[in-house]
Amino acid sequence: MPINITLPGQSNESQAPAGRVVGIDLGTTNSLVAYVENGKAKIIEGADGKLVPSVVTLDDYGGVVAVGVKARQRSMMDAAHTVYSVKRLMGKSYQDVKKEAGMLSYKLLQADEGLVRIQIGNKLYTPIELSSFVLLELKQRAEEFFGEPVTRAVITVPAYFNDAQRHATKDAGRLAGLDVLRIISEPTAAALAYGLDRKNDGTVAVYDFGGGTFDISILKIKNGIFEVLSTNGDTYLGGDDIDRRLMDLFITQIQHINPGFVPTPEQIQRIRTVAEKAKIDLSTHMKVMIEIDIPEAGIAYRRNLTNEEFKRVAKSVIDRTRKPCEDAIRDAKLDVDDLDEVVLVGGSTRMPMVKELVKDIFKRKPHDELNPDETVALGAAIQADILAGDTKDVLLLDVTALSLGIETMGGMMSTIIPRNTTIPTTATDNYTTFVDDQTGVEINVFQGERDFVKDNRHLASFTLKGIPPLPAGAAKVSVTFLIDADGILHVRAIETHTGIEQTVAVKPSYGLTDEEVERMLRDSITNAPADIAARRLVEAKTEAQRILGATEKVLGQLRRGQLNITAAKLKQINVGAVIDALYALRRAVNSEDPVEITKQQNLLESATEPLAKEIMNASISEALTGKTVEQV
Ligand code: AMP
Repeated sequence: MPINITLPGQSNESQAPAGRVVGIDLGTTNSLVAYVENGKAKIIEGADGKLVPSVVTLDDYGGVVAVGVKARQRSMMDAAHTVYSVKRLMGKSYQDVKKEAGMLSYKLLQADEGLVRIQIGNKLYTPIELSSFVLLELKQRAEEFFGEPVTRAVITVPAYFNDAQRHATKDAGRLAGLDVLRIISEPTAAALAYGLDRKNDGTVAVYDFGGGTFDISILKIKNGIFEVLSTNGDTYLGGDDIDRRLMDLFITQIQHINPGFVPTPEQIQRIRTVAEKAKIDLSTHMKVMIEIDIPEAGIAYRRNLTNEEFKRVAKSVIDRTRKPCEDAIRDAKLDVDDLDEVVLVGGSTRMPMVKELVKDIFKRKPHDELNPDETVALGAAIQADILAGDTKDVLLLDVTALSLGIETMGGMMSTIIPRNTTIPTTATDNYTTFVDDQTGVEINVFQGERDFVKDNRHLASFTLKGIPPLPAGAAKVSVTFLIDADGILHVRAIETHTGIEQTVAVKPSYGLTDEEVERMLRDSITNAPADIAARRLVEAKTEAQRILGATEKVLGQLRRGQLNITAAKLKQINVGAVIDALYALRRAVNSEDPVEITKQQNLLESATEPLAKEIMNASISEALTGKTVEQV
């Protein structure tokens, strides 16, 4: 049953002078944009649904070919130009993500200062730029919906996101032309969506089980104020793991019947799709029929999958969410009986066995009235509306996920703000000089729980200069850390005798510098609309020519009988439709209308699909969908 979210003292925002304001859930797999109207939060739907897959397809020259559903559709055909799961890379160094490089189909490189870059074609991108493409898509979707500019947004991040990751998310918003009013934690947004801020006192557990990640957060509400007491989870645990297990089961059984069968990446993807669909159907059915047809390998696999068998396959994955929950409750210094509410977030919480487990862990029925995919975006919209309306009804408080401190002698970590401190917060510690006549003190800021800074994450460095020459230990340097409501750290160092001070907005080593963001913003602004339109036309023509060339080549091969397709199969394929679509695209390419070119290109792609399926030679199949003629 849908819940009406009515906020106290809410005014109609439609006349907001500074442009529309939205809430954005920028997810690893999918993103959403929402708004509040007459006190009710709603998701903005596009022509292809509510979810915008966080997937971007690029060409070799820096052009954005597709974002969202279209980019995901193309991902199977054009993996080398498709970028997904960028959220995993946000605010991280190359060292941080090196281990993950093998699991991604795109190439990660190390740039200056250890930053990570993604290579597509000849171009290198930062995770911030790639995320900004997804945010821009959401912004445009909202602008189309409202028919007016959208300038301000609240964007959500996982509660455990550190300073650099929050900075990076904010930068991505700025690059997309959004004034990011605030970065808020996903669990806090979820609790807001359920209107739990209206409870006077209580504690809430937010259990967020998505496609690739699991997060558990414990929040406290006091007088309508949220505080994140603790967070835990597993960044590599989600519904995808269940899909993989089902897929392995099917492949093993197929291999039993067809020894020697080794699936190609494309066949694996097909089996994975069947596995995911079966999992989803089993959330509402007692059994499903599995049908996997791979005619090129002589495979026609059929079987029934019952809920009981599915449970056996999925159990060990789902059970792995139990320990992080117990740890989070303990870290919050609570007992399970102290918890008042449990909120479900993430597509995988639709599984009845997940709901059962949550009920078992938390000893109460969880909230599942809202669509678990939409909860976070709805909460973000509510917060955005409150901020835009200058209503101070709800103040969100988060905690620092990791301790923050500075390096002291011997490479030791001196913690200034311990982990799980409620933010915004400020703390000060005093230090002194170590050698006589020392006129400068280098301040190295780190994040982490280890005793030696070499094991922690370096955030920033700066030098406090101009200290008068004094004997060692005489100068007193006071270092203040301030974490603002966005979770971003500001550091101030002051020599107390002389009053010399340096206030440094900490530039996380793994984000973009302000100058870089400014330059990119300037670049995007100087790209006048006319330039953008011209570029869009050139890009559309280039892509269309490529597809025309590849299709013509395949048709030629078909005509010469060079393709290994039986006459019977050929009869089932509507080659005439392919030829018609080919001519239509050729005509469109000579026009100056990028929309028409893209439309005809899509029609040709749909028309060639049955033919592509029948082509057994993988390289020829690629010619239809991705590669240049020369590469075939
Ligand atoms: P999210 O990351 O929150 O978008 O969640 C995506 C995950 O939820 C994917 O693994 C989906 O397969 C899974 N999912 C979505 N709907 C269902 C459903 N009805 N039953 C089980 N899993 C689902």
